[in-house]
Amino acid sequence: MSVPADAMPLLIHFVRHMEGGVRIELIRYLAGAGGVALALWLGRGLVAHRRIQPRKAVRGDVVRELRQSVWTIVVFALVDLLTVALIIGGVIRMAHDPASPLAIGWQVLALIVLHDAWFYWMHRALHTRALFRLTHLAHHRSRTPTSWAAYSFATGEAITEALVIPAMFLIIAVLAPVQQMAVFIFLGHQIARNAIGHSGHELAWTGFTRNPWTAWLTTTTHHDLHHSEGRYNYGLYFTWWDRWMGTEHPRYHDRFEAVATRSRPAATASGS
Ligand SMILES: [Zn+2]
Ligand SMILES: [Zn+2]
Repeated sequence: MSVPADAMPLLIHFVRHMEGGVRIELIRYLAGAGGVALALWLGRGLVAHRRIQPRKAVRGDVVRELRQSVWTIVVFALVDLLTVALIIGGVIRMAHDPASPLAIGWQVLALIVLHDAWFYWMHRALHTRALFRLTHLAHHRSRTPTSWAAYSFATGEAITEALVIPAMFLIIAVLAPVQQMAVFIFLGHQIARNAIGHSGHELAWTGFTRNPWTAWLTTTTHHDLHHSEGRYNYGLYFTWWDRWMGTEHPRYHDRFEAVATRSRPAATASGS
């Protein structure tokens, strides 16, 4: 079957954006999930006692998480095309001039807060009986997640996870052109927090979940409890939606402290 000549430039455009999207998403995933996995492996002597669950993820878990994440990257790149189309069509305004740190700063904060709200409510919806098996079961196959589970989503979840980007850009663009640097910082923060949240090791210090200066941030234990027990802790970056909606795990603080107060075994501490 031949492609009409006037459709060729559009097709080339599509393939190029798709190729670029897959490359960027793949680099981001490998840097975030791989970076956290490598850091934990290099520092295993220092952090082994902070493993949250007694069960250890096995090779099969990691292979499944990797395979599912690579598929998600393709879906993300497809949804990214929608964002590109909205920018080319002039619906989303992108900034072309260099911006002040303040202009970048408020957009980073807005993107993080909006994403957190989107994630909480999307996540609650995915846990309904009607949607769970079809969209979210794939992610919950990781009962003992590793950082490689960061993008381990079924197609339906990958689409809803990715749609937040054009949705947030549309909201920001009402107020000001979207700053590329703000998007870059937001995406770096997103994959770092995502990979750490699935890493299975609690590295925050004792008192973190109760201290008013830190209690509003989620910990790895927060999301790990969601994977091991479900039904609680739907939040992403902040604890406030779970607290407002009464969905925080009733023993979150205790479970966190049980890991955070563990000391290194003497044999490990002496370097053996
Ligand atoms: Zn879930
Ligand atoms: Zn998860």
